[in-house]
Amino acid sequence: MLSDVRAIAFDLDNTLWDVEPVLERAEQRLAGWLQQHCPRMRLSRAEMRAAREQLALREPHRAHDVSYLRVAALAAHAREHGYEERLAAQAFEVFLAARNEVEIFADVAPSLARLRRRYALASLSNGNADLERIGLAHAFTVTLNARTIGAAKPERRCFERLAHELLLPLPSIAYVGDDPRLDVEAARAAGMRTVWMNRRGLAWPVELAPADLTVGDCAQLAAAFQV
Ligand SMILES: [Mg+2]
Repeated sequence: MLSDVRAIAFDLDNTLWDVEPVLERAEQRLAGWLQQHCPRMRLSRAEMRAAREQLALREPHRAHDVSYLRVAALAAHAREHGYEERLAAQAFEVFLAARNEVEIFADVAPSLARLRRRYALASLSNGNADLERIGLAHAFTVTLNARTIGAAKPERRCFERLAHELLLPLPSIAYVGDDPRLDVEAARAAGMRTVWMNRRGLAWPVELAPADLTVGDCAQLAAAFQV
């Protein structure tokens, strides 16, 4: 089945780096900036998350765009506290810079280099990681995220767009991700081959059909694809 694969596409967060410590640090840095520049804007992580979730419910057509949700929620909060909205954009830049200070897993760069010799590589993320800033942009021939597509995984549209950009039929693309539903189940439903990146040694959810391949890191992935 995997012998028909011509391209390998990757989820980013928790597939190529751990995202939780990055988001935590980015939100701390944002909070520090707010405290310095607009001290009346005090929001806990939970309150910020709740504000974004409410906004996503009010504006479902933009719910896929995590950057928009963050800026708009900050802007609303700024208004409520008598600050100019442009501060929200500045605050978001502080967050975004920290959000792209990721620690790529050690197995990623050498494995992508090996895989690139035989496969087109692509990325598809629901998040707002910036591969240029991170220094991985060169590894991928196609880079997509929910904001550029206008939809988020698990929507089929995301995977169809990926195939369109790669100029390949869906079954000749393997999608690699850590999330059983958003990555594996959704990519399979769209017609792709699937790889579960199980870095944490978790149990596969019994209610879902397993991925075509399960690996613990990118070195195992490269080995499985015989490069
Ligand atoms: Mg992920």
